[in-house]
Amino acid sequence: MSSDCIFCQIITGEAPSAPIAETESTFAFMDIQPGSDGHLLVVPKRHSTDLRDIPADDLTAVTLESQRIAKHAYSAWGADGVNLLNCCGADAWQTVFHFHMHVIPRYRDKNKDHLRLPFQPGVRGDQDLIDSLATGMRESLGEG
Ligand code: 5GP
Ligand code: ZN
Repeated sequence: MSSDCIFCQIITGEAPSAPIAETESTFAFMDIQPGSDGHLLVVPKRHSTDLRDIPADDLTAVTLESQRIAKHAYSAWGADGVNLLNCCGADAWQTVFHFHMHVIPRYRDKNKDHLRLPFQPGVRGDQDLIDSLATGMRESLGEG
């Protein structure tokens, strides 16, 4: 628990939210600035800053709870798809520094869905750069 963390305050009920579901270690509630109808957040009850420091059991619980709720986005809200998103670090769009998974229902009906891809999926990358980054990562991981 971090007293100046808005998500810790939401978990304890000190700050208001539209709650969705609670497990022993997770809490899910609606996002106040939704990118689509039904955009919600799943957080661990135990405060972690981001992807790098969240303990494995909390990450597992948040991911499984996100999957459970994502399935219901189809049946409860008529979603046509779902994106799970985690932002780690301000440069990756993180604005609240309590780990959270975005569960973002997606719709063919764009009146319900304001998300647009921030990159161009059809544009092929520089193969030399891809290869050299792969080499650097294999070395960092100790993968031969
Ligand atoms: P991030 O940018 O850190 O990945 O996502 C933070 C999310 O938290 C944003 O989508 C933002 O709308 C949401 N958010 C920020 N403050 C509050 C709040 O007080 N209540 C709720 N329900 N969501 C919040
Ligand atoms: Zn917190």
